Amino acid sequence: VTVHDSRRDIRWSPRVPKWKLRRLYEHVARGLWDDELIDDVGMTVYIRCRDIVNIHRALREGKVTCPRCDARGRETLINRIRRKDAGPLRCAVCDWSMTWRDYHRTFKRRQLNPGGAVAAFRRFLSEFASARSAQAKVLAIDRVIHEFHYSLRQEPGRPTRAAGVNLISGKLGDVVAFLDAVSGFALPEEMRETRRGWRSRLRATYWPDHLEAEGEGGG
Ligand SMILES: [Zn+2]
Repeated sequence: VTVHDSRRDIRWSPRVPKWKLRRLYEHVARGLWDDELIDDVGMTVYIRCRDIVNIHRALREGKVTCPRCDARGRETLINRIRRKDAGPLRCAVCDWSMTWRDYHRTFKRRQLNPGGAVAAFRRFLSEFASARSAQAKVLAIDRVIHEFHYSLRQEPGRPTRAAGVNLISGKLGDVVAFLDAVSGFALPEEMRETRRGWRSRLRATYWPDHLEAEGEGGG
């Protein structure tokens, strides 16, 4: 088994394109609950969150999800031995193998780092999996894309960065502007609740110049 083959087994999921999410919000604002579009967006976010949660487990607990077994619908965890002389990761089930260094390189700088938002990504996985209506699915999507990373050290209650950039294509500034714009559509009440939380936490992180300061004082 070559390194090339091992790398080919790793397929990190893509982020959702903005145009598709915008279409979802436009539909919802018009009272249209398009199941196909909702499931398409929802599954993309779901697989993305799942990858992020798996990477978190690899980084924090030293348990790597075997990508080849995963592609075959079977979950196998490979224990990562953190010693200098430790050999490569190797799956006892399918024989997939790769050094930790090469594996780590496959997700570096791809906005797959769980940072301080892993709880929110986990919550989405369970909310979306148990959602029985289009409305419940959209609400779960709306909540998770408007989440924030929290600094786990000095100020655990202070949001540091919008987590949407892990789930939506684009640079942080563009994603923040996009999230602010769609949350301002004429949405159902519970989604307006998301907007209030989003705006107050955004203020605690940074407030981009190009966003209008609407909603001050509870508006
Ligand atoms: Zn395997």
